[in-house]
Amino acid sequence: PPEGARAGLGQALRQLIGQRTDAIDTPALVIDLDAMERNLTRMAEFTRKHGVRLRPHAKMHKSAALARLQMQAGAVGVCVQKTAEAEALAAGGVTDIYISNEVIALPKLRRVAALAQALAARQGRLAIAVDSLDGVARLAEAMAGSAAVIDVFVEIDVGQGRCGVVPGEAALVLAQAIGRHAPLRFAGLQAYHGRAQHLRTVQQRREAIAIAVDDVTYTRRLIEAAGIPVDLVTGAGTGTFVLEAASGVYGELQAGSFLFMDADYAKNERDAAQPQFEHALFVKTQVISVGADHAVCDAGHKSHAIDSGLPLVHALEPGYELTYLNGGDEHGVLRAAGANDRLPELGRMLWLIPGHCDPTVNLHDHLIGVRGGLLHGTVERIIRVDARGALT
Ligand code: PLP
Ligand code: MN
Repeated sequence: PPEGARAGLGQALRQLIGQRTDAIDTPALVIDLDAMERNLTRMAEFTRKHGVRLRPHAKMHKSAALARLQMQAGAVGVCVQKTAEAEALAAGGVTDIYISNEVIALPKLRRVAALAQALAARQGRLAIAVDSLDGVARLAEAMAGSAAVIDVFVEIDVGQGRCGVVPGEAALVLAQAIGRHAPLRFAGLQAYHGRAQHLRTVQQRREAIAIAVDDVTYTRRLIEAAGIPVDLVTGAGTGTFVLEAASGVYGELQAGSFLFMDADYAKNERDAAQPQFEHALFVKTQVISVGADHAVCDAGHKSHAIDSGLPLVHALEPGYELTYLNGGDEHGVLRAAGANDRLPELGRMLWLIPGHCDPTVNLHDHLIGVRGGLLHGTVERIIRVDARGALT
């Protein structure tokens, strides 16, 4: 990435610090720091109370500063999905990282091995997931001769139909294979049910995770019966983590989105046991054109991801409720939500709640952290999206 250009942009943004939110140019990605910190605290309290470890997914914010903040609040480390994300966060001072994904290309695995060594030298550690014998062999080849040890989780498919072996025997075979390579340590099971996260009702999510828990329990017994301890089962996201936490078999939660929340997750029926999370991620946008029955703002899908639906317009005062319609890359079309709602005037600043937080953050170089509310607050800090575009 053009690091110089990004740093330059950061410099201009840093001049915003201490200024009112009016001064933030649009479109921009803004974090309500008060709401984010409440989400952080609520999740930390939940995991403490339930005796489970929290390893939040940093693919969501991609920021070393926020990863460190989460670890200060009690997280044992963070998850990432990509080798390049792990490298970016490690460069930003994060020392306990789990790549909760399969890595197959040898050049990437050499980077994984180098990072495992670098983190071990800093008293940290690196972990990774596997779901094939070939994957174990490739990882072992890259790690051969390494003084560092890498923690390896065997991924089982608990219902998503993505990565992971069929629960049971196949997982045991992988655990045994891992045990044959000194720099590899079998650390437990990866059992994430992605499809269950956005099932809308509590009942649907309970049914899905009950099956996952059975798969995990059966697989763990089988591996332990062969004399191999299963130290940890890791998984769960923002939609289901209360269920994994209560299962007695999951020891670590990987939820990520709870920190910022998005419009899609807000559509889930909330489990009574789940902490209430608030929207902390907003796109600030400005009205640039007003027609007879619609207005247009300057945030389209280059400002926010639309794979999980269009953004909601954050209602800041009554009588201005708006519906956001797709206006293309650079525009949003706004219509009055009800008969009594008015259109915003030209130049007005609005705040959007993105449909999906993770890919929205990946569209921006920086997050603008605001304290004291979106309308009357001030800019407190600029947070770099260190692993933006880190796809490899
Ligand atoms: N763990 C894994 C393996 C994931 O792929 C994801 C997200 O897709 C998560 C955890 C976190 O889920 P969420 O951001 O929905 O809380
Ligand atoms: Mn997501």
